[in-house]
Parts: sequence; structure tokens; C-alpha cells
Amino acid sequence: MYDSVVVGGGPAGAATAARLAGAGHAVLLLDRAEFPRRKACGECVNPAGVAALHALGAWDAVEATGPARLDGWRIRPGSGEGFRGRFPDGVRGIGIEREVLDTVLLDHARACGVEVRTGARVADVVREGGRVVGVQVGDDEIRARLVVGADGLRSVVMRRLGLLRRAPRLRKLALTAHVAGVDAGRGWGELRALGRGCVGIAEVGGGRCNVTVVVAGDEAREVAGDPAGYFDDALRRFGFADARRVDEVLTTGPFDFPVRRAVAAGALLVGDAAGYYDPFTGQGIYRALRGAELAARTAGAALRANDLSSAALAPYERARRRAFGPGERVQHLVEAFVSRPALLRVVSRRFARRPALGDAIIRVTGDVRPARSLFHPGILAGFLF
Ligand SMILES: Cc1cc2nc3c(=O)[nH]c(=O)nc-3n(C[C@H](O)[C@H](O)[C@H](O)COP(=O)(O)OP(=O)(O)OC[C@H]3O[C@@H](n4cnc5c(N)ncnc54)[C@H](O)[C@@H]3O)c2cc1C
Repeated sequence: MYDSVVVGGGPAGAATAARLAGAGHAVLLLDRAEFPRRKACGECVNPAGVAALHALGAWDAVEATGPARLDGWRIRPGSGEGFRGRFPDGVRGIGIEREVLDTVLLDHARACGVEVRTGARVADVVREGGRVVGVQVGDDEIRARLVVGADGLRSVVMRRLGLLRRAPRLRKLALTAHVAGVDAGRGWGELRALGRGCVGIAEVGGGRCNVTVVVAGDEAREVAGDPAGYFDDALRRFGFADARRVDEVLTTGPFDFPVRRAVAAGALLVGDAAGYYDPFTGQGIYRALRGAELAARTAGAALRANDLSSAALAPYERARRRAFGPGERVQHLVEAFVSRPALLRVVSRRFARRPALGDAIIRVTGDVRPARSLFHPGILAGFLF
């Protein structure tokens, strides 16, 4: 009998497990994959994510791997010049391959006392008397006072608990791979929109860049036939003629998985399992790490009080809403612009003339300024006139 079984060893699971074990609880973490493993992701940790790595005590180990620095983003609608947004002085994000970051975080969890089992796929949750009491792995039932679902976008824990609010509406697909031979502009990530698609490019250390191409879901058939061919062709279309792909193309989508709530009796959800929308603003790793802080705070208190009812876990739900609700609304707004190229061109021209506007939006999506700062009269006037 464990105090907690954490399903999923990505940033959300590793950080939640590390925090609970660090507080003296007996924690087992299960992941279906063997690490290091790749993950379809733009691989940029925003500045608040870097702060969350410091808070977790994992920054020194992450920094030692030599990640690329990220000072801000350039946004280009089609072939136009677009605009830039810079993080505040002294504040930066990083670009880092997920096989590196996630392995470091899993090692950190082990060092905090977490028992880690990889190659262990959770098929279901085990319930008794209306509450979750463990998980099913193959023929084994593993019992715990608290099950943490940190198993990503299509979370088994979330679906088995019936917490998915609706099927995805935003139907997009992403293709991602590492490339060499591109000068991404030291310290700057770049997002280029073209038609209904966009591409993100950022350095991830070791002379490589992550390139992530996002396209409308109706291209699914074309992508499925030959993902590598589609990706290489997209590189040329987006103007990266010299880019040389160095690994396999990963595909994923759709991303829009809203949940009804993130707690149930004996269980809670963290990271993408607790709801995800769209990768454009690149806030997922921050939310996974910050969500782990909030989850571990409530879960730790509930374990100590030996009350794992949904009422005892409800403070986590409220803390999530306060922490992420406003940012999620900005994310929906940004997606509405990005999926309308003509609108994006108009906005980009305005932002190019008023650098403070670009800084404002990039700082909000970097989670270093609150979403409400976009409603400052000076910024609002710049958006409108
Ligand atoms: C195309 C794309 C680009 C993105 N770009 C960025 C970006 O640049 N910056 C950013 O911050 N965020 C980005 N994100 C979001 C980011 O990838 C996620 O928010 C982040 O990975 C969430 O972490 P997590 O730990 O919740 O889930 P994950 O990282 O997905 O980890 C979940 C883990 O659970 C395991 N698992 C799944 N099912 C089971 C099971 N049944 N049993 C056992 N284990 C299981 C998986 O093997 C995996 O290791 C992007 C997302 C996409 C789709």
C-alpha cells in the first residue's frame, strides 16, 4: 500500500511525485515508456517554468545539460516582418530536448525517494465504495491512498473517471523533429504563420533546433500517408531551405481536451491530464510544474489528515482555477487570431509599430506578467487604436 501512485513520469508526474516523497510520503511512479523518451513538444520552457524548476530544486541539474537560452519570441505572419516580444531584463526561458529534461526530472524524483517503474502501462483505475483505491497494471492491482493522474493529453485516469468534458473541437495536428543547419537567431524563438498552419522554431542546445509544424486537422490524411515527407516539405514552404532533419518526425493531435474537474474521491489530475487546449503559447511545461506544486500542497495535507475525499482535495481545484484560468482565456484569444491569417497580419503591423504591445503579450504568455496586465489602459489603447 503506497501513500500515492503517480501515473505518468513527464514534468507533471515527476514533479508531483518528487514533492510528495520529499514530504515523507511513500510514492510509486509508473510510466508506460522507457526513459529517455522523446515527446512531441516545442521544447521551450517559459520563464515561469524556469522559476518552477528552481522551486523544485532541479534547476542546477537542468542547467548542467546545456540548454539554449530564450530571451523572447519573433512572430511572423506569412512572409511579412512581424513583431518581437522580449521577456523582461534578467528573465529568460530555455530550449531543451524533452528526452533530456524529462530524464533529469525523473532522476530528481528518484533522488527525492520516489520508487520509479518504467515500462508499466496503467490500464484502469481500481475503485471501491465509490472512491479510487489504486490502479491496474497488466494483471496486477497496485493500491494507494491517492492516485495522481499525470498521464498526459489522453489520460487513462481522466477518461476512466469520466472527467473528460467533451470531445476535442479544435482539430489540429502537430509534427515535430530536430533539425540542424538553421540559424534560429541566438536567444530568440520564432513562430511563422502561413495559411491556417504555423511553424515554431527554437534552439534546444547542442547546435540543434526544434521545429514544430502545426496544421489544420483536415490535413490528417495527407500527414498520415508520409509524416516525414510532409514535414520536410513544410520546412521548405516555411522558408527553412537549409534545414537538415536529424531524427524521426513525431506526430500528435488533436490537443483540445477540457476536463470537468481535476479531483475525485481518492484521485487528482495534474499537467495535461487536467486539461489542455493549444500549444501555440507554449505554457504546458510551466503549468505541469506549477500544477504539481499546487497538487502536492493539497495532497500532502489530505494524506496527513487521512482524508482523501473529493471535498478534502477541492482546494487544489480552486487553486488551479485561480492560477491558470485567466491565462487559459488569453490562450483562446491568441488561438482565435492565429487561425485567422488576415487578422494576424493587421495585428502584427500594429505590434511592429508599438514594441510595448509585443512585449506585453509575450510576457503574459511567458507567465511573467498576469493576464490582467493586458488590460492596462496604455496597452489596451495600443491594441484598439
Ligand atoms: C505540438 C506541441 C508543442 C508543445 N510545445 C510546448 C512548448 O514549447 N513549451 C511548453 O511548455 N509546452 C509545450 N507543449 C505542451 C507540453 O508538451 C505539455 O503541456 C507537457 O508535456 C505536459 O506534461 P505532462 O507531464 O502533463 O504530460 P507528458 O509530458 O505528456 O507526460 C505524460 C507521461 O505519461 C505517460 N503515460 C501516458 N499514458 C500512460 C499510461 N496509461 N500508463 C503509464 N504511463 C502513461 C507517458 O509515457 C508520458 O511519459 C506542447 C504540446 C504539443 C502537443
